[in-house]
Amino acid sequence: MDCINDKFTPIAKILEGKHEGKKVKVRGWVHRERHSAKMAFVVMRDSTGIIQCTLKNEESGAEGAKAGKAASEKKKIFEAATSVYVESSCMLEGIVKKDERAPGGWEIQISNFEIIYKGEPFPIAKDQSTEFLLDTRHLWLRSQKLTKIFKLRHYTMQILREFFDKKEFLSLPPPIITKSACEGGATLFEMDYFGSPAYLTQSGQMYGEVFTTSLENIYVLAPSFRAEPSRTVRHLAEYWHLEPEMAFYNQKMNMDLQEEMLIYLCQNIAKRHPQLLQDVGRNPKDLLKIKGTFERIPYKKAIEKCQSLDLKIEYGQDLGADEEFELTKNLDKPIFIHNHLKAFKAFYMREDESEPGTVLSNDLLAPQGHGEIIGGSERIWDEKELLERMKELNLPLADYQWYVDLRKYGSVPHAGFGLGIERVVKWMLNLEHIRDTIPFPRTINRYYP
Ligand code: ATP
Ligand code: MG
Repeated sequence: MDCINDKFTPIAKILEGKHEGKKVKVRGWVHRERHSAKMAFVVMRDSTGIIQCTLKNEESGAEGAKAGKAASEKKKIFEAATSVYVESSCMLEGIVKKDERAPGGWEIQISNFEIIYKGEPFPIAKDQSTEFLLDTRHLWLRSQKLTKIFKLRHYTMQILREFFDKKEFLSLPPPIITKSACEGGATLFEMDYFGSPAYLTQSGQMYGEVFTTSLENIYVLAPSFRAEPSRTVRHLAEYWHLEPEMAFYNQKMNMDLQEEMLIYLCQNIAKRHPQLLQDVGRNPKDLLKIKGTFERIPYKKAIEKCQSLDLKIEYGQDLGADEEFELTKNLDKPIFIHNHLKAFKAFYMREDESEPGTVLSNDLLAPQGHGEIIGGSERIWDEKELLERMKELNLPLADYQWYVDLRKYGSVPHAGFGLGIERVVKWMLNLEHIRDTIPFPRTINRYYP
């Protein structure tokens, strides 16, 4: 067999059940292996799935000259199939048979088996510690669980792009290296930029605002970096940030768009990939419930609700993980919290004239306690208002002059939001920890491998 040029059948195709009695070739990696003197069981995997393959040792007993050349061939094949390690790469040929006991209901009865690369015994066995699995992440990524999660992550991004394509939003890349902070100084990664200080971006939003002045409706999709000092199940130091920004949008239109986007995402992922969702532990029916409208609760009301639940939070404080959990743990659908206090929100958020002291902000909280997945707002679009706010907060004008310029020349009302891709995947797949939503999670104590 030739592992590159022969024609191989993807395992998922065989599991569809249209190959019964037919001869197929499969190539991939050994997922599991066990054997006795009489029988070899090799579960093979490729990128599409796993399938059980079996081989009888017909030569057990029939040794010697009378067995002849064909027998020695068969012996060689049995020896190859029983000498592999988990994760050895192999190719095989055989007849597809129905077998209720096999995973997926089908098995291949091997007639030919060749090792492509045997390698060494695989270091990951059952019941390894989380730390060990993170140390060997580059190998653990071959596991069925992570393979399925990353397929779903891919489909999530695909559906989100599709949504914005249909709405004719264009996307442009923001810079990753910046001179100024966007979301405040505490979580900045500083670097040396040819002798001057610079930072890894915390958000591409401000650059997204630039693009609205030429393209109107846009999104930026890029990594954001935050030196998050605490260990939580929903913070990464490096995450993927989807940030749409729209000219001539107000707060209501902004929330309407977020709602429509999440409904489109949940409905489509549930309809297109129900089995994958089921396999990773999310009932697709939960996601089909995400439709209609999401409740919109002013910050003030949210605080009252928290207090009625005996949470120790005062008016004036931002909601934290505990409050977000309690507010959403029994919900089926996300909720918006809007009109937060100007005092603890970012400087660029526009004040609500009808409710001074609050801004036209919105956070979107996922149901079942998964917490914040989106933060959005109307942006200040008046130059004087922006300068006053920056002065109040002592922001260095020199670093932000370009941002102020956007207001100086032909400014228009605009709004936008930032969605954390990993937060959305964590919620949609019902995962306990955000680190499983990104192949190589970066956290306070880990940036290897
Ligand atoms: P939190 O209060 O949960 O830390 P935040 O208010 O700092 O969130 P924003 O600055 O509004 O978040 O960022 C927009 C979105 O980016 C969030 O709604 C979230 O989905 C995502 N996000 C923010 N910080 C992180 C992080 N450290 N890891 C993963 N995603 C993040
Ligand atoms: Mg944060």
